[in-house]
Amino acid sequence: MTAGRTALRLSLAGLALAAVVAGVRLAQPDPDIRETFFVFGTLVEIETRGVPEDKARAAIAKVGHRLQQIHHDWHAWRPGRLESLNAAIADGRAFTVDPALADLLREGRQLACASGGLFDPAIGRLIEVWGFHADTPPEGAAPPDAVLDALVARHPRMTDLRISGTEVRSDNPAVQLDLGAYAKGAALDLAAADLRAEGIENAVLNAGGGVQVIGRHDARPWRVAIRDPFQWGVVAAVSLHPDEALHTSGNYERFFDQGGVRFSHIIDPRSGRPMQGIVSVSVLDTSGARADAAATALSVAGPADWPKVAAAMGVHAVMMITDDGTIYATPAMKARLEPVDGGFPAPVHVVDLPTGVVSPDCP
Ligand code: AMP
Ligand code: MG
Repeated sequence: MTAGRTALRLSLAGLALAAVVAGVRLAQPDPDIRETFFVFGTLVEIETRGVPEDKARAAIAKVGHRLQQIHHDWHAWRPGRLESLNAAIADGRAFTVDPALADLLREGRQLACASGGLFDPAIGRLIEVWGFHADTPPEGAAPPDAVLDALVARHPRMTDLRISGTEVRSDNPAVQLDLGAYAKGAALDLAAADLRAEGIENAVLNAGGGVQVIGRHDARPWRVAIRDPFQWGVVAAVSLHPDEALHTSGNYERFFDQGGVRFSHIIDPRSGRPMQGIVSVSVLDTSGARADAAATALSVAGPADWPKVAAAMGVHAVMMITDDGTIYATPAMKARLEPVDGGFPAPVHVVDLPTGVVSPDCP
């Protein structure tokens, strides 16, 4: 391993320790109400603006409980609803879930289909054999090729799911659901809706790699930063419009090191192997679930195919950083990137999304 690579790995490990990846507020003129929870393996910070303290704390506490419940219900690898559903699928049985989980699975099926299967939460078995299902990063050897090839050959896909009301079954018993690639985005969507229902008009919800806003920060928008995946610092700031979400997928957060080679926690469902070549993808959208799913899908799609997949998934504002530090952005994202400390760390190459991409006919 070269000295340069060692330095990179050390700085990336430092970043992995810093839980909040995408949202760093840049100015804090007035005292706001802020609380932090540990859910989804990361810190989730909720901050309200211009709300009386009692009302803010009561609303945030309610949302905190909801997030803990969601974390429990949507966890694939601990006793709970999703784990029970996975057991039923493996046995070829139907299982009845709650309405929120049924809706989440419908949304995941649609997003997986639109991504052409590059984002596909049905590949839980692959995630498990690589060890990315655990709370701590995996150690040891990569899974044997024969195991990976056998799992890929069983073609688990979200489109195998049959969801009628709250009853879920799968045509393919190889499907095992791991919602990690979009659960955080979907959970922040629900949490934001809960806060709005409590009468909160201005807030920011910030979870490692994902941020969602409600309203504004007084007269100005909520402003967040996209962290530089290579070193301590930021790539750019983004002023979020009311109700937007920004999600970043990066292989600097969770990975698997073997003999100096880094394996990303994002698996290409076509090969069963970790994707390569990309260090981070950020997606700005009005739906947190879609932004989160797309950030994962575009990481798998890679430097050549991501514009086509973004168009098929209906996301317009995307930034991608490749292993060599090249920054690409769609025109919609470029227009929103604000340089911090005098400039971007590298030139931002603008990439147009193709027009006329026909989205697959999804359920
Ligand atoms: P994210 O950080 O949003 O990109 O999500 C990564 C997590 O999603 C991983 O830790 C896995 O649990 C899961 N995952 C990995 N690859 C995929 C994939 N291609 N499609 C769906 N989920 C995936
Ligand atoms: Mg994601």
